[in-house]
Amino acid sequence: MELRLYNTLTRSKDAFRPLDPNLVRLYVCGPTVYDHAHIGNARPVIVFDVLFRLLRRLYGADHVRYVRNITDVDDKINARAAERSISIRELTEETYAWFRDDTAALGCLRPDVEPRATEHILEMQALIERLVESGHAYVAEEHVLFHVPSMPEYGKLSRRPLDEMLNGARVDVAPFKRDPMDFVLWKPSTEGQPGWPSPCGIATPGRPGWHIECSAMSWRHLGETFDIHGGGIDLVFPHHENEIAQSRCAFDSGSMAQVWMHNGFLLVEGEKMSKSLGNFVTIRELLNDWPGEVLRLAMLSTHYRQPINWTRQGIGFAAKTLDKWYRVIGDVEAETGEGNPFESEIADRLGDDLNSPSAITHLHHLADVAEHEDASSALKRRFKGAANLMGLLHETETEWRARQRAAVSVDPDAIAALIADRNAARKARDFATADHIREQLASQGIVLMDNKDGTTSWELTR
Ligand SMILES: [Zn+2]
Repeated sequence: MELRLYNTLTRSKDAFRPLDPNLVRLYVCGPTVYDHAHIGNARPVIVFDVLFRLLRRLYGADHVRYVRNITDVDDKINARAAERSISIRELTEETYAWFRDDTAALGCLRPDVEPRATEHILEMQALIERLVESGHAYVAEEHVLFHVPSMPEYGKLSRRPLDEMLNGARVDVAPFKRDPMDFVLWKPSTEGQPGWPSPCGIATPGRPGWHIECSAMSWRHLGETFDIHGGGIDLVFPHHENEIAQSRCAFDSGSMAQVWMHNGFLLVEGEKMSKSLGNFVTIRELLNDWPGEVLRLAMLSTHYRQPINWTRQGIGFAAKTLDKWYRVIGDVEAETGEGNPFESEIADRLGDDLNSPSAITHLHHLADVAEHEDASSALKRRFKGAANLMGLLHETETEWRARQRAAVSVDPDAIAALIADRNAARKARDFATADHIREQLASQGIVLMDNKDGTTSWELTR
């Protein structure tokens, strides 16, 4: 199969050719750890997990290196730690553990390297020194700033006119900046703020700006130039533009990453998510109500470059789909690898710029094909293997049902009693009461099924 990826840098979908097929290198901007991650944060994590799985299948698991950083130095972190009267390390450790648990529940593999910004200060300082020596950065009032006019190709990724970039950057026009577009590489810390010895002979301890982190950590773990850099569309400018400026100027190279991939925005019920609108929803809250796999399928139902409208209806639809798919596979083992033609068909669809909606449509078709086969059928095992490539159907039907029961507090004895009441009502031809009981259970996501042999069974549909 051929992998084609849309590249924000070229604005075109091109065949992917790694710099070194023996080690395909992927970098994705990770979380700033100060609070629970929201569902918008989950989107790049899930999207690039699918890419990671696909690359591993194409090049071999030992020939892909996925790096996703952890921003653990940031003014929001300082403020939150002070607010909670805990140390910065305590806050970032706790928050990062939440993030790790949340993303594991969403079926995401751990990246190969999850570097922390605070453990890469030396690399940042080295980059800053290089940029100052080569005339791309300068020291002013204990800050180090990148001088944007020193890089003629600045703005190539976002392709924005200069005045728009100025607005987008919301630059504070500090009097010591040589150009309003210049951005901070290093800034002085006051007492109480985290600080490290400053580079370039600056006496006051300081801390890095945000953008320099990613240039330093990708350099350390992937080299001066690598294959794919990913993140949310909101990072194109200024963050990624600045990463490119720093890395290319520090290494005097023509490119930082060959392919730049960006996932689209996430809306909640048609609106921009914000705390003031009251529609701010964390991954953790959603996981209280739904298995992570349901959230994953709901997320992948929209192509990663399109804006996604996150709705309860979409989640419900994903839950129903998984319920059907688990019924189809039962407890069979997955067949994975090149020998599984279903898996290859899914890989082909994902190979077209991660077209997950097309892959899901095809999984529906494969489920229909496998559905009528007997339980030992190779088709069921192949269908499961195909879904596994997207990080779906890793459990058995038995495990899935157990998870659903655990997710909602359902009392099987109470349900059995209601079923008995309903049967008695039907016997007495009191259909109003019988229907009422059915609807009452349905409102809790419990669906009754009247079997041919006269018994009634029930199933959770959420
Ligand atoms: Zn970054």
